[in-house]
Amino acid sequence: MRLALFDKGRLGLVDGDALVDVTDQLAPFASSPSGALHQYIERAERGEAPRFDLSSGARVPLAEAALEAPLPRPGKIIGAPVNYLDHKAEMEYTTSIADLGVFLKANSSVIGPGQDILLPYTDKRTDQEGELGVVIGRTAAKVSAENALDHVFGYTCVLDITVRSGEDRSTRKSFDTFTPIGPWVVTADEIPDPDALELRCDVAGETRQHTDTADLIFGVRQLIAYTSSVMTLHPGDVIATGTPAGVGPLHHGDRVVLDIERVGRLEVGVDGSGATAYAERPGL
Ligand code: MN
Repeated sequence: MRLALFDKGRLGLVDGDALVDVTDQLAPFASSPSGALHQYIERAERGEAPRFDLSSGARVPLAEAALEAPLPRPGKIIGAPVNYLDHKAEMEYTTSIADLGVFLKANSSVIGPGQDILLPYTDKRTDQEGELGVVIGRTAAKVSAENALDHVFGYTCVLDITVRSGEDRSTRKSFDTFTPIGPWVVTADEIPDPDALELRCDVAGETRQHTDTADLIFGVRQLIAYTSSVMTLHPGDVIATGTPAGVGPLHHGDRVVLDIERVGRLEVGVDGSGATAYAERPGL
């Protein structure tokens, strides 16, 4: 299944070139900041998720649907620093994920398809990082790599937008709009091996990143095992698995397109009209 949010929080199931509104099949459904898909994932963990009936519910042509972030406020967004060797080389880093561990991004940084990344600074680079996103489906605490995929609900495209400044990682990656997610979540049954997916990220019409998730230093299984040894993962948490080589600066008016095999294609814009000089950060 491909599950999306659209039209101010409605839950849609992709069926061919249409989106079927299945919100009412989730009843009783209480509107919440974490959204309808998050509620569905939590129910699925308890074995209480409805089986969707595609014959009922309004059908909207996918091309006309106003898609939103499928998980507008995840409980946690976990990032994997330096998890591809070619990215380690391009940044001239001496350490990788095995030394650094994982980091957290603010859950308020999420935006959805078609929205704009807002550049904060006129004189510091803000880079795109195209990444495979893992959506947790079952509570995971100290799980083995062997059992890790049993805890995955599905996969999505994640852009881990990052300022290249001297600030802490959690600051540089947590600006509002710095975590575009979508266009939907594809359930794990459609991705037999998350460590063998082609990933491509284009900016302003040029391909900047092109890799296979087979090149991850910590593959998805190992990343879940390691992360869950540190912190309990809950349904709806999102892990951004790390970026390959090809990160680069974003400019006002750019379109960023992240395409991951079997998962989907996420497209967002870039708006630098509110950027200020780094030395003029509020509060200094
Ligand atoms: Mn990243």
